[in-house]
Amino acid sequence: MNFHEYQAKQLFADYGIAVPAGRVARTPEEAVDAAKAIGGDFWVVKAQIHAGGRGKAGGVKLAKTLDSVREYAQGMLGQKMATYQTAGVELPIDSVLVTQATDIAKELYLSVLVDRSTQSITFIASSEGGMDIEQVAAETPEKIQTLNVNYIQGLQAYQCRDLGFALGLTAKQVNQLTKIMLGLFKLFNEKDLALVELNPLAILTDGNLAVLDGKVDSDDNAAFRHPDLVAMRDIRQEDETEVKASQHDLNYVTMDGNIGCMVNGAGLAMATMDVIQLEGGSPANFLDVGGGATRERVTEAFKLILSSDDVKAIFVNIFGGIVRCDMIAEGIIAAVKEVDVKVPVVVRLEGTNVDAGKELLKNSGLAITPADDINDGARKAVAAAKAA
Ligand code: ADP
Ligand code: MG
Repeated sequence: MNFHEYQAKQLFADYGIAVPAGRVARTPEEAVDAAKAIGGDFWVVKAQIHAGGRGKAGGVKLAKTLDSVREYAQGMLGQKMATYQTAGVELPIDSVLVTQATDIAKELYLSVLVDRSTQSITFIASSEGGMDIEQVAAETPEKIQTLNVNYIQGLQAYQCRDLGFALGLTAKQVNQLTKIMLGLFKLFNEKDLALVELNPLAILTDGNLAVLDGKVDSDDNAAFRHPDLVAMRDIRQEDETEVKASQHDLNYVTMDGNIGCMVNGAGLAMATMDVIQLEGGSPANFLDVGGGATRERVTEAFKLILSSDDVKAIFVNIFGGIVRCDMIAEGIIAAVKEVDVKVPVVVRLEGTNVDAGKELLKNSGLAITPADDINDGARKAVAAAKAA
């Protein structure tokens, strides 16, 4: 689950990390009130969407008067914004963060994530912040510092100091960095986060470090023990179909192809997408209906797939190990009857009660194309999508 910048900064503050004064606003008037409450002469008005790259897209504006705070807030609120990180999707701007403007001398990069290859929580830092960190990593890898934290020992202050000096910081800045890193490490562990990114972590002209941007992503598998985080969820920033899927405990990811996939088991779902690609097609989604799928969930899954106009054919690929093929067949029949299906449906069933499942489909009177195996099914689905 992703968080807004203002929420990330609230989490940082809760863990003793200093953040510039700021307030979230949902109307231009609230933005002006926020600026007045913050005080000072300059403010930054920042669009709150679940993506970075806002600066380049016009979502970060420096305001020198209260009038321009109002104007910038007015210009952003109620609009939609796409950045180079949103893959073409436009996200609604429902709120802006009004924050103190600071004089930046240099922008650094600092992130915390789980590094699977070393099985450790890892800090990544660079003296080249503010820009695309992927580009820095590709072109000047020597400018990226990595710190793997030992699981037993935890993060040690001396490691933070080493990192700070490697970034070329002064002793005072190193102390500030250490406090930030220890706070982030505690936050990361206690809230079961997946990613924290400060880009930029700025060195101000007065020499102090300042957290100017914050991106936080939490581990959905741990959501049940963090009701405070769940309360911060903003589903308007999420893919509509994926939100619906999560309400039915379906593991669904929207893709950009035109063949809808309904599969049980994440591994089989991945393999199905691969085979569709191999046959020259392109999947419209990843969907794992799960081992314990009920008839109702299969119906919901079918409706989800069909909710996209891009879907030109559907490939149902079920291996009935735990789930029964006859129950899947009932779900397909119920869904096809309930929703007006105009696209061809290719079904491959294998496993428990497969004969009963095939029999149900055959007698349903619906135009369903049976497939012998995964390759045959993918081929038929690709052909059907191309013919459409
Ligand atoms: P994004 O990563 O979405 O583009 P940022 O919060 O990183 O958004 O802002 C983009 C740039 O705007 C930063 O790299 C920084 O140069 C500038 N900026 C952001 N917040 C402030 C601030 N409070 N004061 C001064 N400049 C800022
Ligand atoms: Mg940023």
